[in-house]
Amino acid sequence: MIRKSLILSFTFISMFTQAQNINKCVTTEMVNKSITEDSRNYMTMKDAADKNAKWLETNRGNENKSIITVPIVIHVVHRSNHSNIGSGTNISNDQIEDGLRILNEDYSKTNPEFPNPPRNTFVQYAGNTQLQFCLATEDENGNPTTGITRTSTTETNFDVDGNDEMKRAITGGKDGWDPDKYLNIWICDIVNSGGGQILGYSYLPGTVGWSMWKDGVVVDYRYFGTIGVSAGGNDGRTPTHEIGHYLGLLHTFCQETDASGNPICCDNDDSNWGGYVDDTPATKDIYYGTVTSSTNNNTCNDLSYSNAFNTNVLDMDENFMSYASTTWMFTIEQVAVMNGTLNGYRSGLKNSTIPMNCTGTVGIENLMDNNQIKIYPNPTNGRILVQNLVNARTKNIIVRNILGEIVYTQLSDGNSTISIDLSILENGIYFIEISTDKGIRLEKVILAK
Ligand SMILES: [Zn+2]
Repeated sequence: MIRKSLILSFTFISMFTQAQNINKCVTTEMVNKSITEDSRNYMTMKDAADKNAKWLETNRGNENKSIITVPIVIHVVHRSNHSNIGSGTNISNDQIEDGLRILNEDYSKTNPEFPNPPRNTFVQYAGNTQLQFCLATEDENGNPTTGITRTSTTETNFDVDGNDEMKRAITGGKDGWDPDKYLNIWICDIVNSGGGQILGYSYLPGTVGWSMWKDGVVVDYRYFGTIGVSAGGNDGRTPTHEIGHYLGLLHTFCQETDASGNPICCDNDDSNWGGYVDDTPATKDIYYGTVTSSTNNNTCNDLSYSNAFNTNVLDMDENFMSYASTTWMFTIEQVAVMNGTLNGYRSGLKNSTIPMNCTGTVGIENLMDNNQIKIYPNPTNGRILVQNLVNARTKNIIVRNILGEIVYTQLSDGNSTISIDLSILENGIYFIEISTDKGIRLEKVILAK
């Protein structure tokens, strides 16, 4: 019985009656499908929700105060005739950087809409996730990587009605990396045999059951970033929305419809599966338009629902988890739910010790090795020498702890060998990040005094 009611609440929404209405994602449908295909997936999803809720029970009002870095790997799965980086489905590093910039702005509340968003109705409910997504610099086998893989496929595109073929080499895709340590993002050409363009999708925590190879986020190559081959007019917020799902958020609008396709619920995310977010207003209909100071949709009466509002407020169309074409915020409660996931079902990601590149710059040509910039000794008792073997102009040196927090910085003195002293820090693992005019040198060092 429980299973039945869950499926009902994830009823497929098909609304391609107007071409301009873009249903951003099929996460709900994929979740529904996963549970229908294998009932055990319902149990893993419930376990994940319970695990996340347990943390929220005592920490809901006490969200994280410092930055959490999440290592990501981007798998570009491109058509075989797009072998040149930057051509068609094989999107450029610049486009990836642009996508990461937007993602990290949105998750740190430094997106251009703040501090004065186009509509200020909900500005006091806006939360800062304090999450930072950085490219992994070490692959599963301990080898250096830019955090981007590129795979040529004979598949023309990947259908959302398929079986996540982009995530497996044997089906023309790319195997993901351990989802307990990396957030996998696949970028490919997505098609929807059901009709309409789908921008991306993700799985909620636990929904993949034991098929962990499916865990991660998929984004169409035209919706990662706003430059290069990206679709005109796209706001680049698809990764923001999909990672919201990945970290436990539901859509803010109703997902349950009657036989005619009309929505029959309100407050979709104030539920067990949504982590009981109660500072997004009760909302029934999907709004596809832009949000301005005069947008005044109000599809449910908030006074009929138990939530954070004492009056009947407007729909929060500007929420990243809506389908509006301009969105700019998460709420404080949504931030709490994402933290619940990172301290619950996805705690492996939060505690991942994979070294990362948080500079926002990518490119294999930019990653330097020990034959170019030598860093020694390692392990060290505090004093480290950085020897420049290729006449690169060193700009600055940043040292991060395993939480990704900057614990030491030093500007270059222009000498070919630079000495840095970490002896004031506690023993442990640190990541040295040296930017030069010829690239970036990243090294994991062990401080043992
Ligand atoms: Zn979605």
